[in-house]
Amino acid sequence: MASSKRDYYEVLGVNKSASQDEIKSAYRKLAKKYHPDNKETGNAEKFKEATEAYSVLSDENKRRTYDQFGQAAFDQASGGQNPFAGSGFEGFNFGGDFGDINDILSQMFGGFGGSSRRSSYGPRRGDDTLMRIRINFMDAVNGKKVTIPVSYDENCKDCNGTGAKSGTEFEKCPHCNGKGRVIRQTQTFFGTMQSESQCPYCGGSGKLIKTKCPTCGGKGYSRVKKDIEINIPAGIQSGQQIRVAGKGERGANGGENGDLYIEVIVSEHNYFKRDGNNVHITIPLDFIDAVLGTVITVPTVYGEVDLKIPSGTQPDSIFRLKDKGIKELRGNGYGDEYVHVEIKIPTYLNKDQKRALDEYKKATDKGDSFFDKFMKNFKK
Ligand SMILES: [Zn+2]
Ligand SMILES: [Zn+2]
Repeated sequence: MASSKRDYYEVLGVNKSASQDEIKSAYRKLAKKYHPDNKETGNAEKFKEATEAYSVLSDENKRRTYDQFGQAAFDQASGGQNPFAGSGFEGFNFGGDFGDINDILSQMFGGFGGSSRRSSYGPRRGDDTLMRIRINFMDAVNGKKVTIPVSYDENCKDCNGTGAKSGTEFEKCPHCNGKGRVIRQTQTFFGTMQSESQCPYCGGSGKLIKTKCPTCGGKGYSRVKKDIEINIPAGIQSGQQIRVAGKGERGANGGENGDLYIEVIVSEHNYFKRDGNNVHITIPLDFIDAVLGTVITVPTVYGEVDLKIPSGTQPDSIFRLKDKGIKELRGNGYGDEYVHVEIKIPTYLNKDQKRALDEYKKATDKGDSFFDKFMKNFKK
């Protein structure tokens, strides 16, 4: 099913090569115009659309993925359109990762007491992180399991991430009387407004830790170092990313961790060149084999196979070996291998070779060479 969403660049009214500053400024304008708290031009749908576009285009990784795969990469509901569906990958999900947007909005709508404000105090998902690994050409062809050392913050199990001993040693916050929020007056864009805000002492929880959890020292989390195994699927192309859920930056206010993206860089091969799922290789061929024809054994990414060279093979001929290319990442098909022949003329002949070729020359009728024919036509 095709996505009916508008192109993100179109939504923000910027072109594909727009800089981060241009994207930010375009979003700023739209957010100000369509913010639901703007009584004149507010439009919740348009605001949401612009925010979604900005959340992707303002992040270089997500933007690259969007440029490469389009909407499908960000649309969990699209199922089969997910570039990694069915390959052991998880779908992309950028829900809740609106840290930067909240910064922009709070700069712009500092005093609004509306929903946009409250959301920044709630659980916030951690940022996604990016890591790069390099694999060789054949590993990309065949797929590979790799073990990668990662470190990330994990909620402390002894206190359930609360930081309080046994997860229960709290007392009511005296500053907000356990409500987590305090009322305050603010000067805003639209005049004075009374707004509620988060209690700065308890961070909005209404609770203060009475006894710190001895395991994590009250932090609520601990740094974990671990080797994780990543399954790189056969057919992966250089620059594609694999998502590892929950191994990114720690979330805030009890929000979950961001995700870790592993960008796979594939090294070039000395002989095989990749073009989509097809593989190209150039082989040298003695001129006599091109003239007389022969059978040669050529390399493919799956081992050597016989290739029949017909007699009279011309320079720059290309032979196709069906299904000897790279496996499709999304599907069961294979690309082809294309064998380019480069016909080689010897620069030195031994006595026997010379005698044999002199015989060939004698056997060729006078006036019957390619050049003789050319001159005959030229003079006509
Ligand atoms: Zn409080
Ligand atoms: Zn703890």
